[in-house]
Amino acid sequence: MHPVFALVDCNNFYVSCERVFNPKLAGKPVIVLSNNDGCAIARSDEAKALGIKMGVPVFQILNIIKAHKVHVYSSNYALYGDMSQRVMQTLTQFTPDIEIYSIDESFLDLSGFSSHNRTEYGRKIKYAVEKWTGIPVSIGIAETKTLAKIANRVAKKSKKSNGVLDLTASPFQDKALELIDVEDVWGIGRSYSRFLKENGINNALQLRDANDQLIKKRMGIVGTRLLHELRGLSCFPLERCPPPKKGITVSRSFKQAIETLDELLEAVAAYVSTGAEKLRKEHSVAGVLMVFLMTNRFNKERYYYNMTTIRLPVSTSDTSELIQYAHGGLIEIYKKGYLYKKAGVMFRDLVSETQVQTNFLDSIDRIHSNRIMQVLDNINVKMGSSTLKYAAVGLRGNKKWQTVFDHRSQSYTTNWNQLLEVS
Ligand SMILES: [Mg+2]
Repeated sequence: MHPVFALVDCNNFYVSCERVFNPKLAGKPVIVLSNNDGCAIARSDEAKALGIKMGVPVFQILNIIKAHKVHVYSSNYALYGDMSQRVMQTLTQFTPDIEIYSIDESFLDLSGFSSHNRTEYGRKIKYAVEKWTGIPVSIGIAETKTLAKIANRVAKKSKKSNGVLDLTASPFQDKALELIDVEDVWGIGRSYSRFLKENGINNALQLRDANDQLIKKRMGIVGTRLLHELRGLSCFPLERCPPPKKGITVSRSFKQAIETLDELLEAVAAYVSTGAEKLRKEHSVAGVLMVFLMTNRFNKERYYYNMTTIRLPVSTSDTSELIQYAHGGLIEIYKKGYLYKKAGVMFRDLVSETQVQTNFLDSIDRIHSNRIMQVLDNINVKMGSSTLKYAAVGLRGNKKWQTVFDHRSQSYTTNWNQLLEVS
């Protein structure tokens, strides 16, 4: 299967963040300044149209600002960071195969989608991000990251593409490459672009069709890779990122696909048990619980992935409480008729168990629940893990969801039953 990448890029990100919380800014020229209010580092389309260039020192454009009532903001990185996290979180609902590339850009792996689905899926993603976060995005899709970057640039400018452009095996690929100044190709810095232009290579199309030897001589392996990427041969794989926030994740692929909700409920209960045990070992509690499930991602026709995020009323590490919430979440996202290949839970917003914010309406006796968990953990440490477990995990043997470790050595040091014996 050929790789396909989507680059999701937030439009004028810092300006868009400001607009989410100040709708009056819509349609007006807005700029955001660098630290100490030095230079313009983000511009709305209206500000760009006034000729305000990226990085221009603000004192040089004071008369434009005055004449056109440009709204000027200092940068607010706490806000942009949080908005970024919301955007990325939304993207992870569409695919687990994501590389967060910068504060406002992510690459997604869309290899599993057939050609007619990709643009449609891109539109769905664009719509969801705008609806859930208020941030407009553009999406470029192509065979390599470099081409996806180019598709994204064109998607932003072309009215026809309306923010989503799939250039994969497209007859318009040459046209798109021709529109891109060589300086704007991903990885081409100032000095390379000067060299290329001196050699008559002014746009991405000319670079793609350039003489290999010429490029290799001056740009080395970097240049060779770039040519490959422009010709549709992927050299830069997706670098999957850990989720943006610190947390605990327990997820497994099943040895056999699972269809029924009952078996998935067992699997999720088992993952919650493992995760909650880890939480308690670290003396942490979780404020947010996420549950996800997915089918085999290579099955294009019957692909389904979904995740739900549950904010817990009181941060907790109580297994039975967490199982209840996880089950609620799973039931919400489970769809009948799919063959599931993987499920998992994630604990987020971890804090120390001594810092729990209690809640007046909390119906659980926390002291009592802590004692039960202590007893559970002590017995499992002494007698081997899973000596005591919740019935929700299921009591039958040979479960489809259990991970196979056929070639794993014994737990020599952590399990009494697996100590080395001398006979
Ligand atoms: Mg951007």
